Amino acid sequence: MDDKLMLMIPGPTPVPEQALLALSKHPIGHRSGDFSKIMAEVTQNLKWLHQTQNDVLCLTVSGTGAMEAGIINFLSPGDRVLVGTNGKFGERWAEVCTAYNLNVETVTTEWGKALDPEKIREKLEADKNKEIKAVIVTHSETSTGVINDLETINRYVKEHGEALIIVDAVTSLGAVNVPIDTWGLDVVCSGSQKGYMIPPGLGFVAVSAKAWEAYKTAKLPRYYLDLGKYRKDAAKNTTPFTPPVNLFFALQATLQMMQKEGLENIFARHQRLMNATREAVKALNLPLYGPDESASPAITAVAPVGVDAEQVRATMKKQFDIVLAGGQDHLKGKVFRIGHLGFVSERDILTAIGALEATLVELGGNGFTSGAGVAAAAKVFAE
Ligand SMILES: *Cc1c(COP(=O)(O)O)cnc(C)c1O
Repeated sequence: MDDKLMLMIPGPTPVPEQALLALSKHPIGHRSGDFSKIMAEVTQNLKWLHQTQNDVLCLTVSGTGAMEAGIINFLSPGDRVLVGTNGKFGERWAEVCTAYNLNVETVTTEWGKALDPEKIREKLEADKNKEIKAVIVTHSETSTGVINDLETINRYVKEHGEALIIVDAVTSLGAVNVPIDTWGLDVVCSGSQKGYMIPPGLGFVAVSAKAWEAYKTAKLPRYYLDLGKYRKDAAKNTTPFTPPVNLFFALQATLQMMQKEGLENIFARHQRLMNATREAVKALNLPLYGPDESASPAITAVAPVGVDAEQVRATMKKQFDIVLAGGQDHLKGKVFRIGHLGFVSERDILTAIGALEATLVELGGNGFTSGAGVAAAAKVFAE
């Protein structure tokens, strides 16, 4: 059936009707008073979402563009940086830093496990000359469905005193608590097609006063992504270059929705969606990739045995119009990933789990009691 597509990937995520309607409006001039009014509201609400008084700047980029902006504005060639890697996106941080000739030291944990904050602490404690300029981590590692212990890592960075903490919060912001001011996070990057519930095209960078100090002496080349330009213009509720005005309409709508729901409720909903998904997958006798203790509220990775992950995805798509994500790099064909980020409700999880069971039946899997997945999810929702 046409027009029944259900996206359960970790971005782009589903878009609510208010945002779709906003997107369909005629564009307006970005130098108009009307646009400035929208930008003023959006900027305030972004600060609310980020739990910060810091600048939160909007760039016309995907999440990776926000990450790149988060590096080039605050560092200089040859700077020593620690990058936590335990999946595809941590590795991307290392690639961005290497591309800009930073002195990159990775602190690695195998895919599927959380970063070990103690390994980062050891490196920071050993750095008596305070040469480490930044500690760079992915909060929710989307490739594996693992959440890293940002709070503890950040505490060690604060004990070091010198290094900035630069965070990819692309699939944690709007799903789990990221209290920027309480923790003192310096640079926090995110992208519109994730927790923001709008299509791809906007990237966001939150910048602390300490990071702005580093900006003054940072020597990496920058032009389009020079955050100083965005900061200066944001103070006048405008942007240095033409912004995607319709995405701003949509963002205005979804930020209002988020305020209505409330941060605590948003976090609790994602927690419930995650718990229900994980309990259902267990009940269907499918191994989860990664332990419950470090599970991301945005995405659940499953490593099926006896059935091929790509076949599960193909059948889910063909029979039920539900799109799941596959594995990345060496996990290709080994895992599939169920996104439950953003505009996702309990009904969506029940639907996806029901369809997953039907898919397993079709593919000849039978290591579970009929209805066990939906029953397990329903039990979590009833709690
Ligand atoms: C989606 C995502 C990104 C950004 O990817 P883009 O394709 O550039 O938007 C970065 N980090 C994580 C953890 C992500 O999930």
